[in-house]
Amino acid sequence: MNFVESDERRELRRVVGELGKKYGYEWFNRQARTGGHTTELWLEAGKLGFLGVNLPEEYGGGGGGMADLSIVLEELGAAGCPLLMMVVSPSICGTVISRFGTDDQKQHWLPGLADGTTIMAFAITEPDAGSNSHQITTTARRTDDGWSLTGRKVYISGLDVAKAVLVVGRTEDARTGKLKPALFIVPTDAPGVEFRQIEMDLISPDKQYALFLDDVQLPREALVGSEDAALMQLFAGLNPERIMASAFAIGIARHALGKATAYVKERQVWKQPIGAHQGIAHPLAQIKIELELARLMMQKAAALYDAGDDLAAGEAANMAKYAAGEVAVRATDQAVQSLGGNGMTVEYGVASLVAAARATRIAPVSREMILNFVAQHSLGLPKSY
Ligand SMILES: Cc1cc2nc3c(=O)[nH]c(=O)nc-3n(C[C@H](O)[C@H](O)[C@H](O)COP(=O)(O)OP(=O)(O)OC[C@H]3O[C@@H](n4cnc5c(N)ncnc54)[C@H](O)[C@@H]3O)c2cc1C
Repeated sequence: MNFVESDERRELRRVVGELGKKYGYEWFNRQARTGGHTTELWLEAGKLGFLGVNLPEEYGGGGGGMADLSIVLEELGAAGCPLLMMVVSPSICGTVISRFGTDDQKQHWLPGLADGTTIMAFAITEPDAGSNSHQITTTARRTDDGWSLTGRKVYISGLDVAKAVLVVGRTEDARTGKLKPALFIVPTDAPGVEFRQIEMDLISPDKQYALFLDDVQLPREALVGSEDAALMQLFAGLNPERIMASAFAIGIARHALGKATAYVKERQVWKQPIGAHQGIAHPLAQIKIELELARLMMQKAAALYDAGDDLAAGEAANMAKYAAGEVAVRATDQAVQSLGGNGMTVEYGVASLVAAARATRIAPVSREMILNFVAQHSLGLPKSY
């Protein structure tokens, strides 16, 4: 076990942090509030090789792993620029395609995902199935030259900036007639694809959409990986998603804690700065501890994943995501409290972090579903649902 970060990773942290600070939260928040995008930062990060650090070198990536990609998102978030689509495009989609895609799919999609010129969204959530993804009904029917895909998805992030979306659907088993999961790459401009923005009470440049798939004609090669192993392939993509969702939440928590700490060192209403009062100092100290614990678990999950242990990575990634979501919520709430009235102003920009942090308790997998997983798989308790 090694808790010492390599010089290479420390350098990655530093240069990504510099890039994040060059844009900063004021810029990020302005983009969010004016309906803008983060394309400028996204493309610069892609050009510098940060978005594709986890992808294979032969397809334009950096040849690293999830530990590297999570550093990128954590540092951008800590600098005030949490790029939500990093949780999806290079991590879930990039991982699934590089692990299970054909050579043609890799050639076609990975270089763009790595340099940021292509963004791919990911769609699993359905209005009726919700957390119960075994109940999804988006179905692919076989046609003479491929597939016809029909279904509906909700809360799909970034469809407006995405060239394609990796859709979790189902196909019919030719032998048993049973529906089984399958993954399809669907261009967002394909006939039969429509999406409508869902008005979220979130201040974020990344928008969520309802996605309608109506008899979308796809070529055979739209299917990613094997029809018979889709569940395993899906899980291989969901572990990176959880690691990156942890990095997203940890970045926000670090940003909020940094702002609160700087403020309470300066603000004085009695004899000393308010940071001298334990009512202010202790909650911040607790958050610092919880933040470091969540980070350690995220790093463990990434290390296990990069070492090829999908099973152990799954447990650690769930635990990391739980801990990161909790600390993000506590950190942003305490940041608002520490700043008093200023905490509620647009100028100080901390209240707007609360809803973003809150969402990390729900997506991509809710706190309760993680507790279910741990109760069942880590503790061996009976399933209640
Ligand atoms: C900002 C944001 C971005 C998102 N982006 C994407 C995306 O890009 N792609 C995508 O596919 N999805 C996306 N989602 C959807 C997200 O993954 C789901 O919202 C999440 O999985 C929960 O599903 P649900 O909203 O249907 O809640 P429900 O399943 O309806 O659950 C509601 C509540 O009930 C609890 N609950 C449900 N079942 C159980 C149980 N068995 N035991 C205990 N509690 C239970 C849940 O934990 C939750 O608290 C996004 C959501 C948000 C908020």
